[in-house]
Amino acid sequence: MPRAEAESEAETEPLPLRHLRVVTSRHITPRTRRVTLGGPSLDGFVLTGPDQQVKLFFPRPGQAGPLLPAPDPSGDLTRWYGAYAALPETERPWMRSYTVRAHDPAAGTVDIDFFLHGDGSDSAAEGPATRWARSARPGDAVGMFGPSAAFAMPVDPGAGDWTLLYADACALPALATVVAALPPGQRAVAYLQVPDPAELQPLPTAGDLTVRPLYGDASAVGTRALDALRADPLPGGRPYAWLAGEASTVRALRRHLVEERGVDRRSVHFAGYWRHRLTQDDAPTSEDLAEARGRLAAG
Ligand SMILES: Cc1cc2nc3c(=O)[nH]c(=O)nc-3n(C[C@H](O)[C@H](O)[C@H](O)COP(=O)(O)OP(=O)(O)OC[C@H]3O[C@@H](n4cnc5c(N)ncnc54)[C@H](O)[C@@H]3O)c2cc1C
Repeated sequence: MPRAEAESEAETEPLPLRHLRVVTSRHITPRTRRVTLGGPSLDGFVLTGPDQQVKLFFPRPGQAGPLLPAPDPSGDLTRWYGAYAALPETERPWMRSYTVRAHDPAAGTVDIDFFLHGDGSDSAAEGPATRWARSARPGDAVGMFGPSAAFAMPVDPGAGDWTLLYADACALPALATVVAALPPGQRAVAYLQVPDPAELQPLPTAGDLTVRPLYGDASAVGTRALDALRADPLPGGRPYAWLAGEASTVRALRRHLVEERGVDRRSVHFAGYWRHRLTQDDAPTSEDLAEARGRLAAG
């Protein structure tokens, strides 16, 4: 999790490690569950922009809450993460990345929207975060790290003449925050790959947004987004692109924009949110490492 360049900043701040409880949870679509989290450790919580990711920590079976090392008083992230990684695997909470969908400072809560991938019939295939969210009840405990400069990727949705967006169902919460931050009148086209129309959500925005829905499970129709984008004439002018979803799809879209459409690679913000048949615990593949190098090269 730690990024070396952020360490000096993190060292001067207490670590944003929070122990939270479920306040409410409810379905906002058939396959997306909104979990509202609260607790005194949200004091001082600030959102500095759209697309703010956090790391969530889920308890292992038999644990009332996630066992997390106490934050180091010096705020040393590397040392804290080392202590977390050194916990025996059977006790170490599962760590997964999620997006803060909303923050209500008056209520002292944050919302996280969980896309429930899988159909609930094979709990091993759906992963611990989805399993947890499917049955989250008021009072359930979860850990949160962030938001943090250690893994923030600043987004500027008004940076181009128009904005191109792609999200699959699990990236829709992040896309909703990006769309909400569009400058008034900013032209934007959003390709949304969701299983079916019931997974679409209202996307309030001051921008001039066109939604291009693409239906079908992202794991079954990985090339649909690329085909759609390739076939579409794009608006004129210099786009800013924001792409998030299944890693190989996002890479293919980015390649298309940069190599076939001549979009400046520095104007393409992209993030692989999940990988086919791999969990977030699995090591990076050679494609993941190449993606990280591409991101560094783009600045
Ligand atoms: C920066 C960032 C922000 C994110 N924000 C959100 C968010 O706000 N809401 C949200 O729902 N997700 C979000 N994700 C995606 C989420 O972290 C992954 O889907 C994660 O793998 C879910 O963990 P899990 O324990 O359920 O599954 P894992 O244990 O990681 O994986 C188990 C199996 O499920 C498959 N799988 C994992 N995710 C998906 C998926 N989305 N669709 C189909 N199959 C899948 C894997 O390939 C694997 O076979 C975000 C990811 C990143 C990197």
